[in-house]
Amino acid sequence: MNSASRIVLVVGSGISGVASALELANAGFDVYLLEKEAVVGGHAASFPCKATDVCSKCSACVVSDKIKQAVLHPKIRLLTNSAIRKLSGEAGNFRVEITQQPRYVDEERCIACSLCTEVCPTDPKAVYPPPAEGAPFSYILDEALCLHFKGEKCDLCRENCPTKAIEFDRKPQEQELSVGAIVVATGFDVFDARGKGSLGYGRYPDVITGLDLERILNREGCLRLPSNGKEPRNIAFIQCIGSRDEGHGYCSHVCCKYAMKLAGLIKYQVPDTRITIFYIDLQTAGKGFAQFYEEYKAKIRFIRGVPVEILRSEFGELDVRFEDISQGIVCRDTFDLVVLSVGISPGKNSWDLARILGINMSNDGFFDVADPLSTNETNVDGILLAGACQGPKDIPDSVAHGIAAASKAMEILSESVGRRVTG
Ligand SMILES: Cc1cc2nc3c(=O)[nH]c(=O)nc-3n(C[C@H](O)[C@H](O)[C@H](O)COP(=O)(O)OP(=O)(O)OC[C@H]3O[C@@H](n4cnc5c(N)ncnc54)[C@H](O)[C@@H]3O)c2cc1C
Repeated sequence: MNSASRIVLVVGSGISGVASALELANAGFDVYLLEKEAVVGGHAASFPCKATDVCSKCSACVVSDKIKQAVLHPKIRLLTNSAIRKLSGEAGNFRVEITQQPRYVDEERCIACSLCTEVCPTDPKAVYPPPAEGAPFSYILDEALCLHFKGEKCDLCRENCPTKAIEFDRKPQEQELSVGAIVVATGFDVFDARGKGSLGYGRYPDVITGLDLERILNREGCLRLPSNGKEPRNIAFIQCIGSRDEGHGYCSHVCCKYAMKLAGLIKYQVPDTRITIFYIDLQTAGKGFAQFYEEYKAKIRFIRGVPVEILRSEFGELDVRFEDISQGIVCRDTFDLVVLSVGISPGKNSWDLARILGINMSNDGFFDVADPLSTNETNVDGILLAGACQGPKDIPDSVAHGIAAASKAMEILSESVGRRVTG
């Protein structure tokens, strides 16, 4: 690695962090891309392409392309399973102490043959492949599920691994990184739909979230009812789950678009599926989206009014009670699948990171910029924000924000070098 003034730490490897890291690396900077999970990519790495006959501009392909480029880039060093413990120094010369938890599966030796998963006796499996677009593509061993780490005498995966990639005795590694600037791109958490108990998420298997649906379609390519594996015939989407209500007054910006695009994809795959979207008001901002909505109005039933309760009948149907605001009447209808369009909530660990880095949070729980006119700058010189950790954003906006953070980091670093030369 170069001297600190040519090195940037990007914290979080979702699409905004990856975009930022690539921008910096392509400009010749060395980048540490630090990720708390075992794989890079963040939320959007598990989204399917939602194209029908035409591209739906969901941007899922942007994510997979950029992840591949970042993983292969010689100037980007991935630090997965890692967390920041302490920060000292200043812009141009930060020292960051990090802890990297062991993967237990050697990335170089794992050939993804799946034998470890096959012999693993736990349910769910303690060792499994990474999500489709996740990288690096070596298997993941979850210490919390693994019998070996619960003190039992199980080493079936290690015994059966043909390349001896499984190493139970790996220990956490501590490192100190010297970097000139830090881009914080830690993203968001999806609203926990169990917080809306009356809608049955977690109780009724056929009430799922938008994120669950994205992941099912990405993994399976088509949709089946979780309860019985049959094709759903009658689906409801309920908008604004965890947005625009008490405690989450803001609009998450992405839910209307992803719900309509997912509905469009399902209709394209199985045209006679009935789809209803319950909404408060539709956010159709963005080029081309109003046209997309006009086209889908003919195929999808839109009802203005958000259901407050879902009950499950003895036949397994989901009985949805709602007020149709346009008609001013209270109605009920039954569906075999309900999708809760969950919104973007601030990351649960944001407060801890804000304390370590000394950066400000806004009242809604997202990281705050230093003043309303600065796009990426925090109150700490040399620490910048990228993507949904600063507030709800879709993929294109997260990419743009990540690139802007990278440009600002480069500017700060060249100024700090300039100060040293002239001083
Ligand atoms: C259900 C759903 C569907 C969506 N569908 C679409 C769509 O079709 N099209 C679209 O344009 N947008 C869509 N979006 C929005 C999209 O998910 C976001 O724009 C995008 O994921 C934001 O990227 P990000 O990198 O800012 O955050 P994230 O994707 O959340 O990535 C943040 C990364 O940082 C890591 N991290 C967090 N904390 C730390 C820490 N302390 N240290 C190290 N690493 C950390 C996380 O593990 C994660 O890998 C959807 C959102 C939702 C909720």
